[in-house]
Amino acid sequence: MTEQSPVTQTQAAKVPTLPDAQIVTSVRHYTDRLFAFRVSRPQSLRFRSGEFVMIGLMGDPDPVTGKQKPLLRAYSIASPSWDEELEFYSIKVQDGPLTSKLQHIQPGDEIILRPKPVGTLVHDALTPGKRLWFFATGTGFAPFASLLRDPETYERYDEVIVTHTTRDVDELTYGRELVESLAEDPLIGEFVGDKLRYYPTTTREQSPKMGRITTLLKDGTVFADLGIDGISPETDRAMVCGSMGLNTDLKEILEGFGLREGANSDPAEYVVEKAFVG
Ligand SMILES: Cc1cc2nc3c(=O)[nH]c(=O)nc-3n(C[C@H](O)[C@H](O)[C@H](O)COP(=O)(O)OP(=O)(O)OC[C@H]3O[C@@H](n4cnc5c(N)ncnc54)[C@H](O)[C@@H]3O)c2cc1C
Repeated sequence: MTEQSPVTQTQAAKVPTLPDAQIVTSVRHYTDRLFAFRVSRPQSLRFRSGEFVMIGLMGDPDPVTGKQKPLLRAYSIASPSWDEELEFYSIKVQDGPLTSKLQHIQPGDEIILRPKPVGTLVHDALTPGKRLWFFATGTGFAPFASLLRDPETYERYDEVIVTHTTRDVDELTYGRELVESLAEDPLIGEFVGDKLRYYPTTTREQSPKMGRITTLLKDGTVFADLGIDGISPETDRAMVCGSMGLNTDLKEILEGFGLREGANSDPAEYVVEKAFVG
């Protein structure tokens, strides 16, 4: 008989009590506004790197009926499709219905995960190209944390550039550590090789590169810094994940370079997804 791994034993011992329950395996807090956590992965869950699912907790009991309903929100899966666990990278909104509670989860706790992944930040929604750009602000880095760990990203492109813009330097840590770990990663390090370039910027706290990515693209700073001519529909493909404002501005910039928006049903040169509503 084969021995069970410690994780399997823990999971078997813990009988899920929530609908679609998964068990939290680790939690790491980055700042008072950001944390990441990993949960068990339903065996039947298949997803494409870059997609999102609905996750959550049981809400408070209804004051009249006492019944509890699941409180669910959209979350990008931050781990790649080959990973045996699922990782999420989350904001903490102090009065947010879900994250005011979710920020307190501990290993061994349960969360609800609806196993129906969807999304447009997937390789299938882009036509083939040579250089892939990931433009992220804040927790918009999450889908790219998945795609950056997927060998397909490096098999499809000669060069991958990830930009991440946050207000403060601490808010870059999750992304920076992930990018720095890739070259040494025993599973995908050889796929990454020297193809990946990282371009972090901050808008408030002093850092080596200050400014909104939209401004730095418009005035050519990004291209001068990276030593490239610009963005062209022949070679460049892009994925964008940030606030509504960032997405709208970046769409305009990318269309100005001649790129067209793609979708799962109609692949083209760039794709966009909201990092949050509001
Ligand atoms: C497609 C999609 C994918 C998403 N993926 C993620 C993800 O990977 N990680 C994540 O943390 N959130 C993600 N979100 C946002 C998430 O669904 C929730 O809004 C968030 O968890 C806060 O939930 P809440 O109930 O506490 O507050 P809500 O009532 O949902 O939000 C309250 C307010 O907080 C602000 N806010 C919400 N989320 C964020 C955020 N991520 N960054 C900055 N401000 C925010 C908005 O102004 C919002 O109006 C995603 C949203 C969408 C639509």
